[in-house]
Amino acid sequence: MLTVEEALELVVKNVEPLAARRVSLGEAAGLVLAEEIRSEVNSPPYDKALMDGYAVRSGDRQPERQILEEIAAGAVPRFPVTPGAASRIMTGAPLPEGADAVVQLERTELVSESTVRLRQVDPLAGQNVLPLGAALRAGEVVLQRGVVLRPVEIGILAEMGRGVVSAIPRPRVAVLPTGNELVAVGEKPEQGQIRNSNGPLLAAAAARAGAHAIELGIARDKREKLRRWVEQGLVADVLVLSGGVSAGKFDLVPEVLAELGVEQVFHKISLRPGKPLWFGVKHDGERRVLVFGLPGNPVSSFVCFELFVRPAIAAMAGRGFEGLPTVRARLTHAFVHAGGRESFLPATVSGVSGSVLNVAPSFESRIAAASSPADLWVAILPWQGSADLVTLARANGLVRLSAAEQQLNPGTLLDVILI
Ligand code: AMP
Ligand code: MG
Repeated sequence: MLTVEEALELVVKNVEPLAARRVSLGEAAGLVLAEEIRSEVNSPPYDKALMDGYAVRSGDRQPERQILEEIAAGAVPRFPVTPGAASRIMTGAPLPEGADAVVQLERTELVSESTVRLRQVDPLAGQNVLPLGAALRAGEVVLQRGVVLRPVEIGILAEMGRGVVSAIPRPRVAVLPTGNELVAVGEKPEQGQIRNSNGPLLAAAAARAGAHAIELGIARDKREKLRRWVEQGLVADVLVLSGGVSAGKFDLVPEVLAELGVEQVFHKISLRPGKPLWFGVKHDGERRVLVFGLPGNPVSSFVCFELFVRPAIAAMAGRGFEGLPTVRARLTHAFVHAGGRESFLPATVSGVSGSVLNVAPSFESRIAAASSPADLWVAILPWQGSADLVTLARANGLVRLSAAEQQLNPGTLLDVILI
């Protein structure tokens, strides 16, 4: 059986970034920019006052000045500032001709309606002024191709007047739970039935991974019906199925996928939980659809999603095949691992202070982990097998244990994937 590492490599080989598309700023947040952005403007577009006060000539040392006008932000100055004169100016307003400094309001006194006395008579040229083009010159590269569009980048694009940019779109991920025993969230399960928790769980996981998630209905373990649902799912960039991939009599997913021309890349890997994982690719002209058949048990489904589907979504979105957000932490207790398969067990990671890092895998948590690996502790939670979502909900990580049988002592440093 393939190891997790080998299986991951096969996924990497089969995934490519999606083709870039023109997107409006409103839908660009979180996407990867697919073009270089050069500024067409100077920023600021004029010498700009940074304080409320009086626009003056720096060389002019006269304490009393005649007030020429009031310049608000957005206004155009009408009079050049001459020796012996000053113009009242607001933050953000363009400096009038002749002026090269702003004396703050707090350092002035109004003598009459038309005269101001400066308490600072020797401002330096440029005081409280942001010169034209100081932040950005026309023609300069502002954003490189390949950057992720965070809120700040969206703001810069708006400043550049770029309402539409070329970016890699959000991968569309269709989620299709399968099973005769499943009923929808709003329904009451009869004898022998359970609610479909995987559909909403996987759709939420896909959205968190940066995909556009589409939850399809519940597919039944009937060849023809399953086939029709799968056909619908193959319209997306990624189809994520749950259930029906084990060795049971009604586990029809692999056969139906084969009938629909999805080529199997692997089936079953050395992983606990998640051994039945199925992965394949459908080539449809230029288009390529990745298909993941996740095991039906919710914990297995989630673990497989995090290990395989999430990085694949990142790669399709142009962010590269992201490694799993992993921290190193010391085990708080002794633990016996039966081995046989590589395992990912629900666990809680906490800092020395006892605070639980119950954050989503984030940049911050990765930085925290990198800076103080020895300060983190991890406890493996006793769990009731791969249907036990409740224990998983108490966990903030998955301890990664190699396939070897091992007796772990308290204090052993382990890899923990943050979930
Ligand atoms: P399967 O992989 O289809 O054999 O399913 C394995 C186990 O997971 C069975 O106990 C199923 O009832 C359960 N299961 C399958 N699909 C779901 C689902 N969408 N939500 C919750 N449990 C499921
Ligand atoms: Mg089933």
